[in-house]
Amino acid sequence: MKYTDTRDKNVSISLKEAVLGGMNKKTGGLYIPVTFPSLPTSILERNLTPSFRDIAYESAKLYCEGEIDDSSLQQIIADCYPFPAKVVPIDPTTYVLELFHGPTCAFKDFGARFMARIMSYFNKDETENLHILVATSGDTGSAVGSAFSGVPGIDVTILYPTGKISPLQEKQLSTFTGNVRALSVKGTFDDCQKMVKTAFTDKDLRSKFRLSSANSINIARLLPQSFYYTYSSLVVKNRCWADNKIEDPSIIMVVPSGNFGNITSGLIAKEMGAPIKGFIAATNANKTVPDWLASGEYKPRPSISTYSNAMDVGDPSNYERIKSFYTLDSIRKLFASYWTDDEGTLQAIRNCHRRTGYIIDPHGAIGWQAWDDMRNGEMQNLINGIPGDPSKPGLTPSLTSWANDVPEGKTVGILLETAHPAKFGAIVKNAIGREPTIPERLGKVLSLPDNSIPITNDYNLFKEWLMENL
Ligand SMILES: *Cc1c(COP(=O)(O)O)cnc(C)c1O
Repeated sequence: MKYTDTRDKNVSISLKEAVLGGMNKKTGGLYIPVTFPSLPTSILERNLTPSFRDIAYESAKLYCEGEIDDSSLQQIIADCYPFPAKVVPIDPTTYVLELFHGPTCAFKDFGARFMARIMSYFNKDETENLHILVATSGDTGSAVGSAFSGVPGIDVTILYPTGKISPLQEKQLSTFTGNVRALSVKGTFDDCQKMVKTAFTDKDLRSKFRLSSANSINIARLLPQSFYYTYSSLVVKNRCWADNKIEDPSIIMVVPSGNFGNITSGLIAKEMGAPIKGFIAATNANKTVPDWLASGEYKPRPSISTYSNAMDVGDPSNYERIKSFYTLDSIRKLFASYWTDDEGTLQAIRNCHRRTGYIIDPHGAIGWQAWDDMRNGEMQNLINGIPGDPSKPGLTPSLTSWANDVPEGKTVGILLETAHPAKFGAIVKNAIGREPTIPERLGKVLSLPDNSIPITNDYNLFKEWLMENL
């Protein structure tokens, strides 16, 4: 497989170059595969759903062909995914895809673990270590740190703003050991990001060390996220008749979105042949994409802070990829979109719990409400030409190609639950009156020693530290 660039279709590079490069520094564009290969019918047309790892392996193979041999790839997949993606029915036509069974209890584990192992594979012939620098405002840092922990040939330095992330997140970051360490920076997330960016352009550092980034635009984080879309859509297709007597279900993936990386991975799975009919892009008050679908104009803006803080993005980086694959019209045929505010998020957690007994986190909750409103009349209203006001919470007034399947009772929803609700215990408690049970692996970090290295917001001190410690 060759990879090209969203801004320059003359670019043609290997997976290795795309993964180690991260993005195209010359054009500012993002890497994408030149085509979407089809999954084999042995995967798509079996009566029994293949295992998650089989799907992961068969999918990954198509993107690594000629660069990673089959047995190494099989080993990489086994190493990446010792935990499941679980499909849990919560009512006859709603399934939750639980993506929080990995080590950091968020879906980012799926992408970060694959990226870490692919980078290590491509780095194996080098004599020097690759040094990853990341600035984080929360979940990304812990997923990346955990993913690279113990991975040979690579070490990771994470910068986070002291006291500006949740206590649990701070604990997750400050307790790494070995090849991963965290610098606790007296400053803001922007200060952290600035120090990392300056380091990448610093001649002294660059001549001494091999530096790389591990942020969410890396293609090696996007491709593996397609695995669970394929897996869950096949699971649901196979069990639907038994659950709800819908013979040929129109499967809708409901995706809580921030940078739109997760939903872009869903588009990749659909292009590869997964039985997915469409998507609901669900956002919080950072509704740049819903507004784009409603008005046709893409207007990036500063982010607003909300209860679903991993989706507080005003200029989603994967818009660039989506635009390079599809026209606005074809996106409107595929995507319904929906947004709600903090009050709506609390109500969504409450509604979901009251109606189904399921405790959902603030990100997944927005997806639940989008799906539930849509099937309970909002889509019918759109079809009848009575859209809601796009400045108020609700479904965006643009009609998808699958809109009529909703009132005809042919749709089933797969809601992506992107984080464990215990990561947002206080918000969940505010909504339903009690905190979710903390999973053992999250609880464990609370008693580990804090190994973070305090540092002031001063680039020269940071540079000195790197020079002495890398
Ligand atoms: C990162 C994140 C999201 C948003 O995912 P994108 O790929 O940026 O759209 C949603 N929910 C949680 C819990 C996250 O950590």
